[in-house]
Amino acid sequence: MKIGAFCLLVLTTAAAFPQDGSLQIDPQLLAHINTTPAIDNHTHVEKVTGPGEKDTEFDALPCPENEPALTPAMARSDIPELFSAWHALYGYNFRDFSPQHLAELAASKQQVRQREGDNFPAWALDQFRTSIMFANRINMGRGLTAPRFRWVPYDDALMYPLNNDGLKAENPDRRFFFGREETILKSYIQQSGLSAVPDTLDGYLKQVVTPTLERQKHAGAVAIKFEMAYLRSLEVRRVDEAAAARAYESLHSRSLTGADTPAYQELQDYILAYLAGEAGRLGLALHFHTGFGCGSYFKLAGANPLLLEELLDNPELRKTTFVLIHGGWPWSGEMATLLTKPNVYTDTSEQSWLLPAATFAPVLRLLLEFAPEKVMFGTDLYGADEPIGAEGGNPGVSVGWEDVGWIAGRRVRNALAMALSGMVRDGEVTPARAREIASLVLNGNASKLYGLIP
Ligand SMILES: [Zn+2]
Repeated sequence: MKIGAFCLLVLTTAAAFPQDGSLQIDPQLLAHINTTPAIDNHTHVEKVTGPGEKDTEFDALPCPENEPALTPAMARSDIPELFSAWHALYGYNFRDFSPQHLAELAASKQQVRQREGDNFPAWALDQFRTSIMFANRINMGRGLTAPRFRWVPYDDALMYPLNNDGLKAENPDRRFFFGREETILKSYIQQSGLSAVPDTLDGYLKQVVTPTLERQKHAGAVAIKFEMAYLRSLEVRRVDEAAAARAYESLHSRSLTGADTPAYQELQDYILAYLAGEAGRLGLALHFHTGFGCGSYFKLAGANPLLLEELLDNPELRKTTFVLIHGGWPWSGEMATLLTKPNVYTDTSEQSWLLPAATFAPVLRLLLEFAPEKVMFGTDLYGADEPIGAEGGNPGVSVGWEDVGWIAGRRVRNALAMALSGMVRDGEVTPARAREIASLVLNGNASKLYGLIP
């Protein structure tokens, strides 16, 4: 009797806290998920580079290297999933970081890159069954060509056409970020055939903002990206044109301090609404970073996706599509509810690199229980800078974007299988509907939203 009661207790505990997430997965559903090609809604894929060349355009605002924040443990370069990724991609047969094994791995990586040349990015996509990858980059580059790679350029810079000294003074990261944005804005102004910002807001919008969006569309962009949460709060207000024009004219020819920030912010809000309207006209979706971000000065409270509500609810922007990327994590409940708005979408990017599959599965499940036709596959893949095992004259091995892509993609697929298996088990959806939802998340929702053929 005692033994029986003990066994029952163990079984109950095991059901509530499964030790192995795979026990919870329907194998047929997992097989369907693993063989379905994905459209990756958000990545920082790198271009093919020559010897000694460095790709500096894979992110407008890369993580600042001074005063770094703690890297979440599941996104570090010592996770055992790396062995699986290296095995799948490069035939690595070890589960350790010994210098000799890493040297062999470095040679294999080099060999594959040489063999594939400009085809290396497409080769990598084939390894993890990604049919189309969105490249969130300042510019595209070698090996990143349509139809498999689609451009998502950055347009934050257009929101900050005035003197940014007051904004830079907030902290060292903002100083670094606004410096980067100023360089990008300068190139947008030059590409628009001007040497400085025009004197009036109307001139700026018509001669710089609209032509920049039109050039990006013409160059193949499918969406435009805002890393606004790294630069200011996502809280956007409705501002009328006359007030914005007055702010522009009174502020544009002088140095600004923190005291000017509220007026400058109103101007930014107006420019953003204008950008959203123009993007809607041109068929470009707006991508926003939402939720957790990198850097030790990142203001998480300002990255809550609910802060965008005023923009999402603007009746003049109903033709604009908003993709609030990274699922707004840790505000997943807020995101799930925002997805019921007609023009709001999200993706699985970033969370799948921060969280292992078993932790991400319940997050994803909540999103799918609200709006399965609004959630898209995404990884936020990146190449890590710090090489592993670089000591004593040994160069070590860099964790490449393909390694991160393999791991994050597998986490999304496993989390999707766990979430949907749970929904079937609990009678929320039929097995057939679960397969359908899996396909929607992997490619159907993105292909419909952006008009793509996977
Ligand atoms: Zn990203």
